[in-house]
Amino acid sequence: MIKAVKIINDLENLFFPTTCLGCTKIIPPHAGSICVSCRHELPLTQYINENDNPTEKILYGRVKIENGASFLRYYKKGIVQQLIHHLKYKGHEEIGIFFGKWMGKELAASKRFNDIDLVIPVPLHPKKLKSRGYNQVSKFGEEIAKALGATYSEEILINTSYSKSQTLKDRLSRNFGKKSNYIVTTETNLNEKHILIVDDVITTGATMERCIKAFSKNKNIKISIATIAITA
Ligand SMILES: [Zn+2]
Repeated sequence: MIKAVKIINDLENLFFPTTCLGCTKIIPPHAGSICVSCRHELPLTQYINENDNPTEKILYGRVKIENGASFLRYYKKGIVQQLIHHLKYKGHEEIGIFFGKWMGKELAASKRFNDIDLVIPVPLHPKKLKSRGYNQVSKFGEEIAKALGATYSEEILINTSYSKSQTLKDRLSRNFGKKSNYIVTTETNLNEKHILIVDDVITTGATMERCIKAFSKNKNIKISIATIAITA
């Protein structure tokens, strides 16, 4: 029986090699990466337009932001985790395009995000960027910038690794050599700009907080955040 199923699957793959990245069902070529039923099942947060939503609350009392939003709820072993996994580790950058276009449309329709000047992704640690070959948030950010009529930039906020970390504790730590150091390049004039920092998943908000703090020397700027998902 298992063999028969395998043969059928092989035949299907031969004729329709595209599978849904959410449920692995075969989908027709050019139907996108996510099948219709998975799209309907996506746990949308539906709070992009709401003030004081859960994404914003994560950063309460830590850093000041104008507005924040996440598009989906991330559950362990759920479809969003599956899709983010494909986006991060399996080279499926089209997932970022898909959600960037979709969320971008909703952000553009919201008064809370319609004056964004710059879209900036959370930069990957250089070692990670080298091994992965791409920043999984790039396509998502590019599509959002397009939808908002904003400029997309990966040059303003950069991630440099600590290399002077020499204490024994540091060397024994599993994070040795992996610490991210976010800095804002000084050449860019950010005066009066409204920046949207984008990331894939927000959980504790620690990364986002450090990225926002990197802009603390720039007095007259506004910062908002948008993520594909929020840990439920
Ligand atoms: Zn599916």
